[in-house]
Amino acid sequence: MESELAALPPPRYLVDLSPLLAETSGGSFMLEPFTVEDRLDDELFKAAVQVRIDRTNRGVRIVGSVRGSQEGLCGRCLAPAAAQLDTAVDEEALEERHATEGALLIGKGNSVDVGRLALEALDLSRRLVLLCTPPCPERCGLCGANHPASDCPERGLDPRLAGLAALLPPEGDEGAPIG
Ligand SMILES: [Zn+2]
Ligand SMILES: [Zn+2]
Repeated sequence: MESELAALPPPRYLVDLSPLLAETSGGSFMLEPFTVEDRLDDELFKAAVQVRIDRTNRGVRIVGSVRGSQEGLCGRCLAPAAAQLDTAVDEEALEERHATEGALLIGKGNSVDVGRLALEALDLSRRLVLLCTPPCPERCGLCGANHPASDCPERGLDPRLAGLAALLPPEGDEGAPIG
């Protein structure tokens, strides 16, 4: 347990819930909007967080919006690229005496790290591959040059490569409904 705690990253935006926890179920307050950022796998995540915190019968519920950006390098051309992310956070944090396995708990000093919750929500909505906006041209799957594989001068030269090319979707198929 000790080592697990030591491995936790530093808190991002701790919110003291003592006043709310002193109330019975039904209490609620709007948290002052704040921003938080973090670097993950060479990409920078920035979040603007707007949440309300409600008292529940076993802790608090943190609900609101997380808007932000993901900044890194384009997966195709390696130029700097960014994506706008827009997601929601809806988490219940429990008082220790109501703890259940795997539940988020209210921490020391009756605090919850709302900044970390927001960054986790943003990370769940991240782009798996960042691309330029507007998108840069797709790279050739055969030679890596700046043309579609169907136009590749190397197409058909090597039977193994031709086999690969046959696996690529035909041009202009993007956006077609599936099923
Ligand atoms: Zn690009
Ligand atoms: Zn090519």
